[in-house]
Amino acid sequence: TDALARAESLIDLTPDYPEPGVLFRDVSPLLADGDAVRAVSEALIEPFRGGFDIVGGIEARGFLLAGYVAAIAGVGILPIRKAGKLPKPAAAVSYALEYGSATIEAPGVLRPGERVLLLDDVLATGGTLAAAQRLVRDLGAEVAGSAVVLELVDLGGRAHAGDDVHALFAARE
Ligand code: 5GP
Repeated sequence: TDALARAESLIDLTPDYPEPGVLFRDVSPLLADGDAVRAVSEALIEPFRGGFDIVGGIEARGFLLAGYVAAIAGVGILPIRKAGKLPKPAAAVSYALEYGSATIEAPGVLRPGERVLLLDDVLATGGTLAAAQRLVRDLGAEVAGSAVVLELVDLGGRAHAGDDVHALFAARE
């Protein structure tokens, strides 16, 4: 649609951020635009209508998408946090980064079998989304699906996060 094409054009590119050789995509201008953020939020959940009970937002930009999506879908929000931010983490998953590792945690708010739709802004190597999927399963819940605004296709994220990731836009490099 026109609104989605406009939303895609609002993603800002920054070369050599956060380190040399990386072309960083910033969805801030997209989030700042009312029509764009609505169109993107509706498109993220479109394939999953009726198939999820709660949305899981991955810190930090995934939180913003999760808030909007939860409001339009009439569901609640699971915040998936970087390690050390939650008073009572119910589960934690560590995963490898290019240099070193990262850990994500979630609070113990899911009911057994609850269907979680995972949301993030960008799919890069897929490590973060794969860890979030594991986290949901470790909590005794179910992954209803995974949706991202932008997939960096050359980074092969689907090998980790699954071939069924719903990506609205795709970019090279
Ligand atoms: P991955 O684990 O797939 O390699 O990296 C994905 C995580 O890093 C996501 O949480 C995503 O928000 C962030 N990320 C990686 N590259 C970019 C980028 O170019 N732009 C933005 N906004 N986030 C990125």
